[in-house]
Order: sequence, then C-alpha cells, then structure tokens
Amino acid sequence: MIHGFDTELVHFDPAPGDPFHPSATPIYQTATFRQQSAGNSGNYDYTRSGNPTRHVFQNQIARLERGTSASAFSSGMAAINAVTSLVNSGDGIVAGDDLYGGTCRLLSRVLTRQGIDVRYIDTTDLDSVALEMKKRPGLVLIETPTNPFLKVTDISALASLVHENGGILAVDNTILSPYLQNPLEQGADVVIHSATKYLCGHSDVTAGAVVTVDERLGEKIAFYQNAAGTGLAPFEAWLLIRGMKTLGLRLERQQSTAARLARFLTEHHKVEKVYHPDLPNHPGRDLHFRQARGAGGVISFETESAEFSKKLIAATKLFAATVSFGGVASSISLPFYMSHANIPPAVRADRMIPKNLVRVSVGIENPDDLLEDLTQALETADNDKDDADAAETCTRS
Ligand SMILES: *Cc1c(COP(=O)(O)O)cnc(C)c1O
Repeated sequence: MIHGFDTELVHFDPAPGDPFHPSATPIYQTATFRQQSAGNSGNYDYTRSGNPTRHVFQNQIARLERGTSASAFSSGMAAINAVTSLVNSGDGIVAGDDLYGGTCRLLSRVLTRQGIDVRYIDTTDLDSVALEMKKRPGLVLIETPTNPFLKVTDISALASLVHENGGILAVDNTILSPYLQNPLEQGADVVIHSATKYLCGHSDVTAGAVVTVDERLGEKIAFYQNAAGTGLAPFEAWLLIRGMKTLGLRLERQQSTAARLARFLTEHHKVEKVYHPDLPNHPGRDLHFRQARGAGGVISFETESAEFSKKLIAATKLFAATVSFGGVASSISLPFYMSHANIPPAVRADRMIPKNLVRVSVGIENPDDLLEDLTQALETADNDKDDADAAETCTRS
C-alpha cells in the first residue's frame, strides 16, 4: 500500500531482526560483532563495514528519496567525496556555478590535483550545458535551487543531456530534502545530502548520505564507504533517525514562514533584491514548482551595503549569526564572509557573491516573532547608519 510521505516518516521497521521489537531504533554502539564461524560473518562483522543503526537510517533515506540503496557518511562533504570516486582520473566533472563553498573547495583544491578536470557552468542554461557535454564529462554535479542565489535547474532535461553523453547526474538535494523534491524520480542517477541540515534538523549532527537507483552505482558507493572508512557512526545515525520523523512538520512551518518573510522583505525599502523560489518574480518559479513540492525555508537578500548587512545581522535577536541552515532555530549569515569564504579566490571572483548578501534560514519559531525581529533589526541597522552620517557631518563642519 502506498502511504503519504508524512506517514512514511514515522512508519518503518526501527529494528529489523531485533527479538525485542523496540519502538525506537537501538544504538548498536559496538565496533565488532561475534562471527557465527570462521568464514561466516553473518550480517555484520565490523562497524566500518556495516552497523544495524546506520542501516536503519540508510534504508529510510533510500526509501524517502525513491532510490534502491543508500550509504551514510560522517558529513555531507564525505558523501560528495564518495560520489566523486565514481569519476576516473582523466575524466572531467561539470559542476553548477553556485555550489556550496565546501564543494568548490573539494573540487578545485583536491580533485584537480588528482588529475580530474573540473569546470563550473550555469546549469540553468541548457544550451551551455549541451556544449560542455560534447567534452563528455564523467559526472555532472548540481544543486537546485542553489545556495545562496536559489537558481533553478531543470533536472529532467539535464538528466537527458547527461545520459545522451554517457555521464552520471548527481543532485545535491540538501536545500529541499526528500520532503520537497525527489531528483531520482526526475532522472538523476545520484542524490546527495548534507544530513547536517534539514534531515537532522536540530543542528546537533554532521552527516551525509548518497542515494542511488542503480544498484551497481550503489554498490560502488558502499564499497567506497567501507574502503575509505567514512561511514556514519551509530550514535549520529540514531540522532538522524529520530530527527527525520518530524521532517514534514518542520518543513511545513519553515517554508510557510519563509514565504511570508520573503514577501515582507520584498516590500521593505531597505532591501534591494530578494531571492526565494516562492516569489512571483523568481525567474525559475514555474520550473521549480514542476519538479518540487515547495519552495523551502532558505531566503537570500541584498541590502544597500555590506555595512548595512553587518549591522543587520548584529541587531537580530532570534536569528543567530551562524553558518549552516535547516535547523529548528532560525539563523542568519553573510555568505561572502561566512559559508562561502572558503571558495578559492579565482572561483569566487567568477561567482561574484555580493558582500551585502544576507542569507536567512527560517526555523520553527512563532512566525510573528520572527517578523517582528527582522523588522526591528532592519530599523536598528538603518538608525545606526543615520548616526554614522550625523557623526560624519559634524566632523566636516
Ligand atoms: C552543508 C552542505 C554540504 C556539506 O555538508 P557537511 O555536512 O557540512 O559536510 C554540502 N552541500 C550543501 C548544499 C550543503 O549545504
């Protein structure tokens, strides 16, 4: 029987094979498992290679992403690194031009040194993708919507182009989570998550996951997980299993508040530009809602200056100035100075992340409280500026 997504989030086997039928998944905090006999290791022998708690998380994320197999890693970056192991040296990677900063660092400063050619292109422009595909890259890696600009790429059109040229399409689905988008159903071969964000939802775990439909691809990723020793530890897997049960509830609240805040920001005279897929003037809006079930909880916007933005984030009380996103508590950041500061300067110059860009991750707080806090912070930043102007006028005269 097919159930709604919310039902699937809480109804799954929490402990396959456990004789006591616990309601919650046990933490199998063990490195080794006794062998049935020499030569017969049973289901598990060593936690690097496999652990029952990690398996419950892997089964659940595979199911939610509509894949057949999943591997869980110690971080989102470890998950992305596992996916790049699918590329042979001498092959190329084509990457979206608005990727997470840490992904750029891995691609530009680690993989290129291993002889892998990496090119960044605007994957929202399918004509330029088609040209790039003629060079037959092994792997195409994108995020949609991107972060921080929330640019939208057509997953199924891109998948066709990539497959015609014998490549693999990997979509980093961190920003929406499987609750809002399932790239494997649109033709992607691999879905990646930084489970640190929405899947966990409570800012208390770093974790990653890779999900595939093709079983052979899944086996290659699982092989890498064991070979490199980057599998997720049982306690972290347990926290994720627990956090994911409320994914739907959290995201419903987060995205409805985000839509409200995005509209408020659009109308605010101190805000120059707002990026959020739910806004009527968002260039990728129609495409986004064809492939996703919601706009998500992340908003970016530009104010009149970097100074103003810095004052704004200092003045907010409910939005904590932290990197990352997807937690139950709201956060605010300046990507140029924070999450995207580790993009190599050459790549960063191309991407032109404005210094005044502010990114907000909306939490599950009372929406009126968040609106009020943003209103007072914008006012405080503005008044602060008047003071600075006044001081300058005084010294001049
Ligand atoms: C945070 C993030 C990553 C990296 O994940 P970690 O868990 O921090 O290693 C990768 N991709 C996206 C889109 C992210 O937001």
